[in-house]
Amino acid sequence: MSEFINIAIDGPVASGKGTVTKALSARLGIPALDTGAMYRAVTVDLLDRNVDIHDEKAVLFALNKTDLRVFMSDNSIMRVFVRNHDVSARLRDNAISLATPTVAAYSGVRDYVNRQIAVVASTGNYILEGRDIGTTVLPHAQYKFFLTADLVERAKRRKLDLARKGEDVPLLEVMAQVKQRDEADANRVVAPLKQADDAILIDNTGLTLEQTIDSMLKYIKL
Ligand code: C5P
Repeated sequence: MSEFINIAIDGPVASGKGTVTKALSARLGIPALDTGAMYRAVTVDLLDRNVDIHDEKAVLFALNKTDLRVFMSDNSIMRVFVRNHDVSARLRDNAISLATPTVAAYSGVRDYVNRQIAVVASTGNYILEGRDIGTTVLPHAQYKFFLTADLVERAKRRKLDLARKGEDVPLLEVMAQVKQRDEADANRVVAPLKQADDAILIDNTGLTLEQTIDSMLKYIKL
């Protein structure tokens, strides 16, 4: 087990992981690492370079030049660079959200991202959010949570996120996209999205952020 405190937060699309992780990070004074952002950044880079993301060999070959780097600012804001370009502002574009599960399913991509995660996580206490943190990346994390909410609520949150970015997608379409991404993440062979046996399940359907955080803080003793 690591000498540092690690809190793993996994869950499906729009389960509130990102918001909860940021709030928990501020409450506990522990920086947060968004591992989804790293998979998204790899995807941005591949698409920018016109790599066919359905061609695993081409993706793995292209990864040699990706040069992904993550920087945490003093106020715990994470910025992601690929080949010295800050791609942080583009990570949550819908096209990237839809393409990332394809890229994240390749074991070579997962090994690549996991190596970067290990470098960051070895430097101090971290809250890590993702899909496979509790099951695969940090199976010995001191605290593990699996966050979820019902599909309609998650789709509504996702629609709101997209609207804030100026992307107006009908709710039914968002719902189909969320379902499709979850299925891709849950059914892949390598490190699929799944609740770790020893993770605490937090269903935040109908809960406020404060209520969700409070239900998690009950378990965390630092
Ligand atoms: O969490 P977020 O929605 O930003 O993740 C984007 C995508 O990255 C997920 O749909 C999933 O395909 C991939 N991912 C993953 N493993 C992680 C984090 C994210 O496969 N630990």
